[in-house]
Amino acid sequence: MKKIYTAANPADAHIVRGILESYEIGCEVRGESLFSVRGELPMVGDTFPTVWIFNDEDFEEARKVVDEIDRKREEAPVVSESWNCSRCGETLESQFTACWKCGKSRKTEDSESNVKRERF
Ligand SMILES: [Zn+2]
Repeated sequence: MKKIYTAANPADAHIVRGILESYEIGCEVRGESLFSVRGELPMVGDTFPTVWIFNDEDFEEARKVVDEIDRKREEAPVVSESWNCSRCGETLESQFTACWKCGKSRKTEDSESNVKRERF
């Protein structure tokens, strides 16, 4: 048995277990029961659910699979961050590259500093 993954929550652990099993890597989730009573336990930092592989020989392949899962998550679009228009102060969703209200584009730090320089 080798620990291959420490999950943030039981659902995450089961997702990883399911993916590993699809690669025919035998594994199990541990520590779920601890998680469910986590709120009542002192925070010891070791109560996250973990995924363990049965055969140590699978470790290298399992490691690659887990790395791939992490990599895909990093590529996944994050929850959109809004931004504020530097001209009119309008709050805009991240998908807008320019202010819909006054038309100012989002990335104008350079031209903005040019304008300031001209004033001096
Ligand atoms: Zn604006």
